[in-house]
Amino acid sequence: MSNIILEPVDTLKGVGKETAISLNEMGIHTIMDLLDYLPYRYEDYRIKDIMEATHDERITVQGVIHSEPALMYYGKKRSRLTVRLLIGNILVKAVFFNQPYAKSKLILGESVIITGKWDKNRQEITVNHFSTNDNQEKKDYEPIYSLRGSLKNHTFRKFVALALKEYGDKVVDPLPPEILQKYRLLSKKETFQILHFPGSEEDMKQGRRRYVYEEFLLFQLKMQSLRKFQRDHSTGISILYVEGKVNEFITSLPFPLTVAQKRVVHEILTDCQSPARMNRLLQGDVGSGKTVVAAISLYASITAGFQGALMVPTEILAEQHAESLAKMFEHRDVTVALLTSSIKGKKRKVLLDQLSIGRIDILVGTHALIQDEVNFHQLGLVITDEQHRFGVAQRKVLREKGENPNVLFMTATPIPRTLAITVFGEMDVSTIDELPAGRKPIETYWAKEEMLDRVLHFLKKEISKGRQAYVITPLIEESDKLDVQNAIDVHSQLSLYFGSNVKVGLMHGRLHPTEKEQVMKEFSEHSVDILVSTTVVEVGVNVPNATMMIIYDAERFGLSQLHQLRGRVGRGEEQSYCILLANPKTDVGKERMTIMTETTDGFVLSEKDLELRGPGDFFGRKQSGMPEFKMADMVHDYRVLEIARDDAKALIDSPIFWDHERYEALRERLSASGAITGEKLD
Ligand code: ADP
Ligand code: MG
Repeated sequence: MSNIILEPVDTLKGVGKETAISLNEMGIHTIMDLLDYLPYRYEDYRIKDIMEATHDERITVQGVIHSEPALMYYGKKRSRLTVRLLIGNILVKAVFFNQPYAKSKLILGESVIITGKWDKNRQEITVNHFSTNDNQEKKDYEPIYSLRGSLKNHTFRKFVALALKEYGDKVVDPLPPEILQKYRLLSKKETFQILHFPGSEEDMKQGRRRYVYEEFLLFQLKMQSLRKFQRDHSTGISILYVEGKVNEFITSLPFPLTVAQKRVVHEILTDCQSPARMNRLLQGDVGSGKTVVAAISLYASITAGFQGALMVPTEILAEQHAESLAKMFEHRDVTVALLTSSIKGKKRKVLLDQLSIGRIDILVGTHALIQDEVNFHQLGLVITDEQHRFGVAQRKVLREKGENPNVLFMTATPIPRTLAITVFGEMDVSTIDELPAGRKPIETYWAKEEMLDRVLHFLKKEISKGRQAYVITPLIEESDKLDVQNAIDVHSQLSLYFGSNVKVGLMHGRLHPTEKEQVMKEFSEHSVDILVSTTVVEVGVNVPNATMMIIYDAERFGLSQLHQLRGRVGRGEEQSYCILLANPKTDVGKERMTIMTETTDGFVLSEKDLELRGPGDFFGRKQSGMPEFKMADMVHDYRVLEIARDDAKALIDSPIFWDHERYEALRERLSASGAITGEKLD
């Protein structure tokens, strides 16, 4: 038995051809679609105490007619009707525009309920709605729908009422009775009834509660069944690493692992060892030490005879990683190779040959790694760094590379817990939530542009101590549209300001890759003191001697981005500083600057960022993969989302779910979404 009422909407009495077209445009094709088309707001008709009403507020009040209505016409169609009302012991004037028919209904001494805008100064209400004793249908709320064509709100309500009356009993509740009872949720039919025809505020709350839970549960069931599907259907690789060797490697590191690093290493290695394919997200703030976790995992994989791959978003980063991995594995029998687009011809061919016969243990590179020509001998583990920069499609290709390699996605953008369980709901998540001991938090200051002189003076002092600095600007070149600083101008200003003793470098996305590489190299070798750059330095770059960052027009960046940028400093022993140059015009802008000076905790910032920007903008729209809910709000309803996730996990794992008729409607909706067959894996 289907839980969807599939009858076309024009089977309803009164829905003609034209109406059906409007309804179709609104996405309403079936009766079920109609019932599921929810109001976007409710007009509040509850009677209010006029003494408490504020100027210009839209209110509903009850009063007694205190004067004969006076009607005046302007031309044929326009009219104005005024009448005095006694509300409690206050006398107000009610004005009706273009409602001449009201005159005969407003009878001296009788009661009337009016809704309209309250002009407190003139003690006057401009009436939109009124009801007298004979036409009083008692309702507190009127749902308002977003409609197309010539469809009127009251007509739409009539259709919904009719649909509920004729088909309401056919509404099958996808939520099994156990769940309804457990959380005291309304039935699906009651929910429709209440959301379309609410009687009270409590009603609406209950209707909403039920609707939100169902949306989240279905969504989480999809995520969890995908997860189960992946586990059941991927004959992954069991990496039987040599524990002694791995421990020995960990002990040989120049520092002890943090508790958090130990925990995530354990989570990752347990996953690698199991025959199911790992699909794990590793999140940790900038500087939390993800690279070494990656190195340990790759090494473990090598001790079991497998190759590993590390994929990063830029060539600079690829080089840095290849270099630091090579150094970490210096005295071990581990071959690290770098593959970038600039490795061509014979050199490339040799490298690829070596890779395919297993002579290379770890391959580091950009997305060049997932091209067809790249063949591994026995790929066991793939790690991507700064995962959010890769599109969904690339993630998929990567997963399909090799014989079901274990996959670890690393990101330094702490993902608000809300988004982690939605966007990455089908993945396991490991979190490094502490920084190595002894780190000095970066001191952050917000300076107005007028204070540039003092800021530069400070910069001079740091440089004279032998330190280096980043200066970040939002744009590359002068733009006539925006009055913002650009890298080229700032570069020449600073060169002038510092003279020939200080070397100022310039870096931006329009430079040729080899030029970029050259500048970065000079900066990391300290032949450049100050690096003026656009946000291309945002990701991963590691120059511990850089202790200062100045960010021009900082209000133009989001919190997460500012945090990423700031993470380029504070990587060495010395105290680091970040100066935000900004004259924000909005309150949100000011709030952002203040928050940046108050915390260096990436998780706090990411939650705040989400709050200020909204979920859609968090990752950038294109690759966000953000689910859309009709009523549920991931931030506001977070607790329900968590409950729904736990319920979904339990349901998916319980055999009862799969053969118990009470869950049939739920399963049906799942298979309709492709989740059970794994079709919607990406
Ligand atoms: P991220 O998570 O941003 O990639 P990195 O892996 O680059 O961080 O680590 C930042 C710095 O911290 C590196 O110089 C690394 O050697 C160092 N580091 C990593 N783990 C520890 C630790 N447990 N104790 C001390 N220093 C560490
Ligand atoms: Mg890193």
